[in-house]
Amino acid sequence: MNAAFSRTWEHAVVTGGAGFVGSHLCTALLDAGAAVTCVDDLSTGRPENMSGLRGRPGFAFVRASVCEPITVDRPPDLVLHFASPASPADYLRLPVHTMETGSLGTRNALALAHASGARFLLASTSEVYGDPQQHPQNERYWGNVNPVGPRSVYDEAKRFGEALTTAQADAHGTDTGIVRVFNTYGPRMRGYDGRAVPTFVRQALAGEPLTVTGDGRQTRSLCYVDDTVRGILAAAAHGLRGPVNIGNPTEITMLELARLVIELTGSTSEIRFVERPTDDPAVRCPDITLARDKLEWEPGVTAEEGLRRTIAWFRDQGDLIGS
Ligand code: NAD
Repeated sequence: MNAAFSRTWEHAVVTGGAGFVGSHLCTALLDAGAAVTCVDDLSTGRPENMSGLRGRPGFAFVRASVCEPITVDRPPDLVLHFASPASPADYLRLPVHTMETGSLGTRNALALAHASGARFLLASTSEVYGDPQQHPQNERYWGNVNPVGPRSVYDEAKRFGEALTTAQADAHGTDTGIVRVFNTYGPRMRGYDGRAVPTFVRQALAGEPLTVTGDGRQTRSLCYVDDTVRGILAAAAHGLRGPVNIGNPTEITMLELARLVIELTGSTSEIRFVERPTDDPAVRCPDITLARDKLEWEPGVTAEEGLRRTIAWFRDQGDLIGS
């Protein structure tokens, strides 16, 4: 963790703590000495993600939807609001749930933070920039989102969450922050969640063709989960209101990513081009000047290293890659 912006928390509530990013956050907070309550309805998260957490002193799990008022057994001093379907496959399958989690869920998480006098951090997303007309994207860019497109259930829920968080801080003085997380990958992603890294790794390990959408020239900027978690906790500790981009500015095309996964797995898989989804962004790259200046944060794990660690984890899962 960044020495300048580490802070000791007594009790953190992590909504979505049984998910991919949330479970890594729970681990990092416990490692830093905080008690952690994970609130999750397991709609896209997995109990296995908490296998290293259950039984650790200070860890508690509450199975509940954040769309209902959130009850925990003692007041937190930090609320990390990460509950939300995040992969396109999940939010397209759960469109209304996604919007309710982004709206009612954010309202309930804010209410818990306000009533407890806790710091609140909203997990927003690079998806608020939509299919961006500005490249790379800094926090002053307002985005290019289709409000009735298929991705809108996620993008607009997150945009609403940002607006609600801002209104809550302005109207009621709650200590809030907003992190706009860019594409993050690593261990504990589900092999079938539809996102590029787990899909390519699963396909490469199984010797199946890697399905690259469109012509594969669309770019993403992939951040290894340990770097993302460090950035999120730096934003929590700093007290920055944000929004602040947390992501890796090294851009890679989806075709390059597929080739890299084939190389690193030593797979004999081929590449197959398939149809590109509607409103799929052409480019995505964070400007992280603000995070560098204010949080003294930047990612440190290269794509090769992060993919090696992710591939090793997927190999260990064997048949348990998950649906
Ligand atoms: P994930 O699907 O693995 O985790 C989300 C968790 O939230 C799951 O455990 C799920 O069960 C839980 N959840 C969903 N709806 C809920 C509800 N109504 N009540 C309680 N729990 C609920 O996704 P992730 O990739 O870990 O993403 C976590 C957060 O980070 C999300 O808010 C997402 O928008 C944000 N984010 C992630 C990325 C990324 O690349 N992983 C990028 C940008 C933003």
